[in-house]
Amino acid sequence: MADISRFADELGPAKIIQVYEPSVGLKAVLVVDNVAIGPALGGLRMAPDVSVEECFRLARAMTLKNAAAELAHGGGKVVLYGDPNMPKPDKARLIRALACSLRREREYIFAPDMGTDEECMAWIKDEIGRVVGLPAGLGGIPLNTIGATGWGVCQAAEVALPYCDFGFENARVVVQGFGAVGQHAARFLAAKKAILVGVSDSRGAICSEAGLDVEELCRLKAAGKSVTAYPQGTKLDREAVINCDCDILIPAARPDVVTADNVQHIKARLIIQGANIPFTPEAEKYLYDKGILCIPDFIANAGGVICAAMEYRGESPAAVFGEIAEKVRYNTRLVLEEAKAKNILPREAAFQLAIHRVKEAMSYKRWSIF
Ligand code: NAD
Repeated sequence: MADISRFADELGPAKIIQVYEPSVGLKAVLVVDNVAIGPALGGLRMAPDVSVEECFRLARAMTLKNAAAELAHGGGKVVLYGDPNMPKPDKARLIRALACSLRREREYIFAPDMGTDEECMAWIKDEIGRVVGLPAGLGGIPLNTIGATGWGVCQAAEVALPYCDFGFENARVVVQGFGAVGQHAARFLAAKKAILVGVSDSRGAICSEAGLDVEELCRLKAAGKSVTAYPQGTKLDREAVINCDCDILIPAARPDVVTADNVQHIKARLIIQGANIPFTPEAEKYLYDKGILCIPDFIANAGGVICAAMEYRGESPAAVFGEIAEKVRYNTRLVLEEAKAKNILPREAAFQLAIHRVKEAMSYKRWSIF
């Protein structure tokens, strides 16, 4: 049994549940971090190399993200061990078995994350019903299809640009991870006349100073190919993409891709964190000292969960983009102003904003220590 006490602090986690069913090859972990504000909303991540620690850190990021966005939800996360590209019947069996195992965990609401999509959420609905991020045909607002998080990332970038000395037009963008978040972020930024000059996925990276065609790259991904199948440009190892010369870097893949060991290679002037916990604290401090602006994950990538919370409340899909823009823009500006006024990292300013809301909610609980 893993030593879980190392995760415990003043906020949580409230629960860590291991799910193990060898007969179907099911191995997963649920972390419900903090539910003072409401039931935990956070995605189901499927990957072969996930861990309890990653799950806890992602659940904590959801606690902060939901509080910062003033959603009536706490934070939680599930990680499912396995290859998300396994044959569909096998994936459906695993996810259905996982949903059944967590049927009674009413403080957690399933949502999509890396390696899972709207169809996976439909399987969960069929089993237990407690899920958001459903296909439109099931009454959902398909947050990945509409690009909810990519839209929010673009809003955060637009608010942050005046704090840098350049604008969208001809800004060179690099996107690490070309999935739901990365593709839509690239599309929305391209619509603002920024130029995608580098992109990666789990199989490699491609870069071109002349620019890459975002729609062509999306077509390649839709056909099940890697971005490295793009006919022009220079192919690189997937890790090398963050070293590309650019103005805006959007990490939209895994945690801890930038650490104290590789942060000095970053040449971007503005970083918008599409992924959850993509940089270590040391890496963010280094960037801050260098004057490179970094909009933290739980502010910049809140679009998906804002959309999910709206679906949960039964709101109209037509209102989604407006609400994401309003919340992400407001919080990005607030965080940047606080960071400037107090001479602190944007992440520290964002943390203060979120923690204040979580602690207030905790103060109303019977078992409150505040
Ligand atoms: P996805 O599964 O749709 O896409 C992930 C992409 O990253 C794929 O292209 C994959 O090939 C690539 N990838 C995986 N490992 C990589 C690596 N080491 N280097 C480069 N590329 C790699 O996932 P997504 O929904 O786009 O989520 C991406 C990130 O954004 C995750 O950190 C997720 O938690 C975060 N996020 C997603 C949402 C959302 O709405 N989907 C919301 C908030 C945060």
